[in-house]
Amino acid sequence: MRLVFLGPPGAGKGTQARLLEERFGATQISTGDILRVQSEQTALGREAHEYMKRGELVPDALVIAMIEAELERTPSGWVMDGFPRTVAQAEALDEMLTRRGIPLNAVVLFGANRQTLIARLSARWTNPRNGRTYNALTNPPKVAGIDDDDGGELIQRDDDRAETVAKRLDVYDTQTKPLIQYYRRRGKLVEVDAMESMQSVAQQIVTAIRAEMPAW
Ligand code: AMP
Repeated sequence: MRLVFLGPPGAGKGTQARLLEERFGATQISTGDILRVQSEQTALGREAHEYMKRGELVPDALVIAMIEAELERTPSGWVMDGFPRTVAQAEALDEMLTRRGIPLNAVVLFGANRQTLIARLSARWTNPRNGRTYNALTNPPKVAGIDDDDGGELIQRDDDRAETVAKRLDVYDTQTKPLIQYYRRRGKLVEVDAMESMQSVAQQIVTAIRAEMPAW
């Protein structure tokens, strides 16, 4: 299974990618998570962090090179969560997959309105060690501020602050939304209503993928 999850920040792409990973073993490839780890480790990562803090996209060349390296490490099933985010990235991904002879199975579009996304992002708590997220209202950890699994501290991401969230949603509208047309034209797009509960969205995804890939 090779999938792209497309949708605005706060739509639940990471949560659903994690569920698919647990259920079906498809590796989650999250550019945001990789960039956050690298932002503390390498000079390029620190440069990327400057864009992330402002809610802007990191330059295409940097994330494309990152994905190329991830594909080398993860040859079989995966779900891309947060990549591609520009048409140039989508074209680069097509080229990488064609070169390897491994087509995408589907692109899942997560639909949600702005009000819901803002509410979710402001209630979001993140495990900075692995990117796992909670929602203080709808999906809280067992103990406030503590990750259920590793027992470590949860944080509120810098870029989940209100001003930066508005910027990220604008960036999605102008730079990432054109990908909806891009993949629709290629017959790859399936849509889910991401405002439903976590379990309902998971079910919608499985149903949509099965319709695209009857053998799965
Ligand atoms: P996310 O965790 O997916 O919300 O990503 C957090 C931030 O990382 C984004 O606001 C961007 O600054 C950066 N980022 C993640 N993925 C990409 C990408 N595919 N292209 C450019 N920037 C990205």
